[in-house]
Amino acid sequence: MTRSNGQDAGSTFAGSETGFLRFVDVKKSYDRKTLVVNGFSLDVAKGEFITLLGPSGSGKTTILMLLAGFESVTGGDIEIDGVPVTRIAPYDRNIGVVFQNYALFPHMTISENLAYPLRARKMGRQAIASLVEEYLSLVELDGFANRFPAQLSGGQRQRVALARALIFEPALVLMDEPLGALDKKLREQMQFEITRLHQKLGFTVIYVTHDQTEALTMSDRIAVFNDGVVQQCASPDELYERPRNAFVANFIGENNMLPGEVVETVGAKVRVSVANGKEITARLADVSSAGAPCRISVRPEKMFIKTDRTGYDNEIPAKFIVQHYVGDFIRYYFELDDGTEVTVKLLNDLDAPKLGQGEIAGLMWQASDCYAFNTD
Ligand code: ADP
Ligand code: MG
Repeated sequence: MTRSNGQDAGSTFAGSETGFLRFVDVKKSYDRKTLVVNGFSLDVAKGEFITLLGPSGSGKTTILMLLAGFESVTGGDIEIDGVPVTRIAPYDRNIGVVFQNYALFPHMTISENLAYPLRARKMGRQAIASLVEEYLSLVELDGFANRFPAQLSGGQRQRVALARALIFEPALVLMDEPLGALDKKLREQMQFEITRLHQKLGFTVIYVTHDQTEALTMSDRIAVFNDGVVQQCASPDELYERPRNAFVANFIGENNMLPGEVVETVGAKVRVSVANGKEITARLADVSSAGAPCRISVRPEKMFIKTDRTGYDNEIPAKFIVQHYVGDFIRYYFELDDGTEVTVKLLNDLDAPKLGQGEIAGLMWQASDCYAFNTD
């Protein structure tokens, strides 16, 4: 077992050092008919924090099971440090795992729970005792060594599960919705804890969640899944700012979707006619031919309400319905001529416009802040 130095493992991963973990065209079928993972390829660098994000049933857990060796691939290959995992027994893959309901041993104390993976690895008593102390302290549970799991809160138990997954210093740690059972405040606290430990210890993480905020805040890169296929794999800001298709745009962040029809493409831009025959300009995503139906995707915070502002590429009239105060910002709800509902999100400052119900206002946004997506 190689022990990394916890003090200086470093928080940054070398982006160029790919190939620590490789998925090559991985396919998985449980019933020999449907592929629940259909051609998954991904190169992961050592120390990277990768999140698999997707709706329930999209194949995320299956990928972790294949990696951990609890299931075998139907096609393709997975390599760790250049060695196909099919040639490494699950135990020897040296992978730490944390699951949503990864039960601690209820009849063992916290320190016995932590010692378990070390005993299984035949480590000596002294070394075990000092590691248990070190990891209890890392997850801020000093003084809890002799309690039993039932005497801890849900959040504390999950910290123990985390410490138990990390204590044998695996190079690779898999986490499957580890915070799903916790309430919002605790979840945010644990998100911070996990990223802190990741930065301090430098292990590689494959994290699974269906919570986009969690994915955006924690990950170096996110692979967005749907139906066993990666829709896009990129950094959080790239996914948010440059979604490749309507699924990704809808799954990450909020979106207005305006139905329209392609008029013409001009380089990387596209002219589209939307409600009331109004023409607007958008970035070209996955549509091409003139006359094709499409959807314009614009985030609520990228739209503005015409008051005395000018200089936006696009403008369409919309009927004001209602507004909601959310404290630091205000959400305005509008309706277009074709019935499409549009939300605009503006900072709650002195410039925030006051509109009367039914009033027609101009909604404005930049061409670079919207995409034309294929309608399927
Ligand atoms: P996710 O973790 O994204 O919710 P899963 O990987 O658990 O998705 O499941 C993907 C698909 O595979 C689902 O349709 C699920 O019903 C199916 N599936 C998962 N595990 C098994 C299994 N052990 N046997 C048969 N089908 C399974
Ligand atoms: Mg799952």
